Amino acid sequence: MHELSVMSQIIESILSEGKKRSATKIEEVDLQIGEYTMLGDEQMEFAYEVLSKDTILQGSKLKISHVKGKIECSCGYRGRVDPYPDSPHKIVPILECPKCKGGAKIVEGRECLIRNIRMVVPDV
Ligand SMILES: [Zn+2]
Repeated sequence: MHELSVMSQIIESILSEGKKRSATKIEEVDLQIGEYTMLGDEQMEFAYEVLSKDTILQGSKLKISHVKGKIECSCGYRGRVDPYPDSPHKIVPILECPKCKGGAKIVEGRECLIRNIRMVVPDV
């Protein structure tokens, strides 16, 4: 499962961030997912739950927000494109330039970022 390996990297960086600040507990994590990453929300939430077990992340809340993607084409077109024109199933994004029908390059929407971590840090 794609989501599980992505999420395990995310959790790793959250945990190392928490460790740096001697956090005793993580309360909430904000994730930002680009629309061309092909990561499903439900799968991400499931992976989060599984991987956060027995860590300071256990029981925390995962908030997912989505970022619209953007493409760039050699013809000069730059902007949004619907990667799934006719398909009800989001399997493979078809990134075709809407102007010249050529293959376009993704410039935005492939990222999966941790936007915010709310943690409990002991008083110093
Ligand atoms: Zn084009």
